[in-house]
Amino acid sequence: MVSARPAVQQLPAYKPGRNPADLAREIGVAQAVKLASNEVAFPPLPAVLEALAAAAGETHRYPDNGAVVLTAALAERYGVDPAQVVAGCGAVMLCQQLAQAFNDPGTGLAHAWRSFEIYPLLARVAGARSIQVPLVPGRPGGPVDTHDLEALAAAVDDTTRLVFVCNPNNPTGTAVRRAALERFLDAAPESALVVLDEAYREFVTDPDVPDGLELMRGRPNVAVLRTFSKAWGLAGLRVGYLVAEDPAVADAVRRTHVPFSVSTLAQAAAVAALGSEDEVRRRVAAVVAERARLTAALRERGLDVSDSQANFVWLAVGEDAADLAAALEARAVITRPYAGGGIRVTVGTPSEDDVFLAALDAVRDGARVTTPT
Ligand SMILES: *Cc1c(COP(=O)(O)O)cnc(C)c1O
Repeated sequence: MVSARPAVQQLPAYKPGRNPADLAREIGVAQAVKLASNEVAFPPLPAVLEALAAAAGETHRYPDNGAVVLTAALAERYGVDPAQVVAGCGAVMLCQQLAQAFNDPGTGLAHAWRSFEIYPLLARVAGARSIQVPLVPGRPGGPVDTHDLEALAAAVDDTTRLVFVCNPNNPTGTAVRRAALERFLDAAPESALVVLDEAYREFVTDPDVPDGLELMRGRPNVAVLRTFSKAWGLAGLRVGYLVAEDPAVADAVRRTHVPFSVSTLAQAAAVAALGSEDEVRRRVAAVVAERARLTAALRERGLDVSDSQANFVWLAVGEDAADLAAALEARAVITRPYAGGGIRVTVGTPSEDDVFLAALDAVRDGARVTTPT
């Protein structure tokens, strides 16, 4: 009998979020609202649809394995050399490529916890040690669940090959500020590659949250990850990118690229999206305005919500997370529960968010009726 590696057998099975159409049918409503995956609610950009239609005629050929046009467009946009840029099949694939490229078995991969769920899994698959540093816990009235960069610096040693700093952090939406991050990068050993995962960078409004690409300059052990899945609206096409200060880092990541994994359609769409930046900015501004409205509405309800710098909000409801998410789902709203931690709710359209708020009110009223205290 064949058997998978123990590390693989122990990986949690992927549990996909509920499909809104299925959920709506099951509970007998016209429509369910999906606020679980941090997508933007806008349809694909017009220029993207045009580029896809044009590129469809090329799909009997393999894609350009080097994503040359996209790489050049990104390099120009950020004022770096194309040798510093690597496109990938989503930023998650680039995370995997990074672990393959830098983590020998037994070496360390450090990150905050709670943070992006795939970081500890990357370590397991690579046979590396996952070094998890708890977030600074929330306190009433103060910011909740922020990175503890001092503890992270202390946890990094000379066996650590990779450090992920997710900024803003998924799932808490909190962000680290410039001075703290600079101090951290100054202290990090040169042998550890610090990856600033900026999947939500476009939604950052606090000027004191640094742009990783600026901090990266002059630091050869720093790289930045970004994606077209969130603000740029291409989640279904799978395309993200890494920008490294040291071209050797980019080269190592390119060597672990799964051949042709960034499709012709994905490449064409990403180039077209970059050309529609003004429209993307308008969309991001709408999301940011709605984020403020949603945050205020939650605070009016007495909930402790930190300021989010991303396109989602985090309700740190602790042990109630799974029950709350299930109760919301029964009212046609799909959110993302983190057992024992909280629920992450994507900023939707104003009407989607109103459906969420009404469902939340109904759940909390119900809870008050059934469990008088
Ligand atoms: C969504 C997300 C990504 C990117 O995902 P892809 O769709 O694979 O590009 C990367 N990091 C974090 C923290 C994310 O939330």
